[in-house]
Amino acid sequence: TDRAETLEFQAEARQLLQLMVHSIYSNKDVFLRELISNASDALDKLRLASLVDKDLVVDTDDLHIEIEVDKAARTLTVRDNGIGMSRDEVIEVIGTIAKSGTAELLRKLRESADAGAKQELIGQFGVGFYAAFMVADRVLLTSRKAGEAGGTRWESTGEGTYTVEPVDSAPQGTSVTLHLKPADADDNLHDYTAEWTIREIVKRYSDFIAWPIRMTVERTGAEGDTTTEVQTLNSMKALWARSRDEVDDAEYHEFYKHVSHDWADPLEIVHMKGEGTFEYEALLFIPSHAPLDLFSPQGRRGVQLYVKRVFIMDDCEALTPNYLRFVKGVVDAHDLSLNISREILQQDRQIQVVRRRLVRKILATVKDLKANHAERYRTFWSEFGAVVKEGLIDDLENQETLLEILSVASTNDPAELTDLAGYVARMKDGQSDIYYATGESRSMIENSPHMEAFRAKGYEVLLLTDPVDEVWVERVGQYDGRALRSIAKGQVDLDTEEEKKEAEAERERQRQDYADLLTWMGEALADSVKEVRLSSRLTTSPACVVGDAHDITPTLEKMYRAMGH
Ligand code: ADP
Ligand code: MG
Repeated sequence: TDRAETLEFQAEARQLLQLMVHSIYSNKDVFLRELISNASDALDKLRLASLVDKDLVVDTDDLHIEIEVDKAARTLTVRDNGIGMSRDEVIEVIGTIAKSGTAELLRKLRESADAGAKQELIGQFGVGFYAAFMVADRVLLTSRKAGEAGGTRWESTGEGTYTVEPVDSAPQGTSVTLHLKPADADDNLHDYTAEWTIREIVKRYSDFIAWPIRMTVERTGAEGDTTTEVQTLNSMKALWARSRDEVDDAEYHEFYKHVSHDWADPLEIVHMKGEGTFEYEALLFIPSHAPLDLFSPQGRRGVQLYVKRVFIMDDCEALTPNYLRFVKGVVDAHDLSLNISREILQQDRQIQVVRRRLVRKILATVKDLKANHAERYRTFWSEFGAVVKEGLIDDLENQETLLEILSVASTNDPAELTDLAGYVARMKDGQSDIYYATGESRSMIENSPHMEAFRAKGYEVLLLTDPVDEVWVERVGQYDGRALRSIAKGQVDLDTEEEKKEAEAERERQRQDYADLLTWMGEALADSVKEVRLSSRLTTSPACVVGDAHDITPTLEKMYRAMGH
């Protein structure tokens, strides 16, 4: 019609859609999970809005999701009577991929030639609404936002452009209609008009959804007569409120995918309950891979907060410290007000207690992984170690546990990381300190002249290459009563008393022999160094530059300079 407007998808959205249209992801069934997940979020938001916003007049008596199939037209519709979207929201969220990490995903996809690796990347990113284009060659969305009079109709084939047009009468909420691709378009397509296919997919991926997912089904009687009835396909049990032995891993995994928007299974499940003065249930997950925006300030962080089954907010930062920002899941706190704001939550004493317990439990889970599941622990540490180390700076209360779960590279073994306990166990007789070196890469540190004396002595050195390492080693200072000492700072003393006396005598002789040279070099280099002195730390290199014990290291210096100090 003449009110329709054709608009272009934003560039990144267009590229992502191309991947969906040309279907490089083989498990097509997940499109339904994504649409149901969005519908469920929309119902959560409407219920919260109706409770919090007294001016919003909406009917919330029968909030539900509906699946409708038209076999003749080959369409599948997912409908909800949730919060809905305004015209601007439709354009904003459906025409644009707002998710942080999209550019990074696309770059990695371009670099990767291997189809399996590409699928995995897409799964880790979780494509959301666009998954509809894996099974449909045309998608129609109609939405009316709660409290608004008119609606919006959106339509696209997923190829570059979409149209939007106002519609006068639309039911409140959103309906998404898929014009299904021909059944033979792709080997991985199931018949999404078949009742049993839909039933199975809903049961497998969306059983825990808290709202009824309904479908009208046909039944043929003994006399060949057909009747129809409306059935609810899901059990609607809030997983976090059930006890652990009632829930199987597959259910946990699908729930994780709903709350995290990840398509891959989680690495660990943490299910806990708090009783007493402040009741809560928590169902948390450690993902199996880091999100692409782990280090971006726009990245999603934190878990969802519910109050007695009512969804309150996504990304509740008050419930987990920043260094555990990759943890996903749900906390249902029973005694909070539905109106609670983010600011008040940060101050709430009970929330602080819950947060403390969650942190302890998560760290205990990691500790158990490390002790009993080496392979999974390795995955955990390679994905999240660099973030967890931030906890050594921020979270003094758990420093001891954090030091126990820490792993670092070391000269002991080029292929394996070590923990601090392992280092201490291998310390040489007469060695009293733990030595470490910081730098940009393992090979850079290993080739540094500072390493020579340690190599000669057979002393192990921890090789720290994450930017955060410099900061935590300084902050922590010691482990198990032994000082953490940089091999590049101050006077490093590797010798026994006797060796020292001998060496001192030798040095004194040398100082006299070289006095003129040292004076001359000191004057020549006066602008660049504080002092030129003879060193016992080198074995083959002629000279090296060392910092004072209290100087900042070159890496830190670089970091501060980059930050504009
Ligand atoms: P995500 O769910 O991870 O945010 P999606 O691609 O699945 O990403 O959805 C994008 C956005 O579109 C949602 O965040 C939401 O704002 C909006 N949206 C999608 N489906 C619906 C719906 N049924 N009702 C209301 N809003 C929706
Ligand atoms: Mg979604």
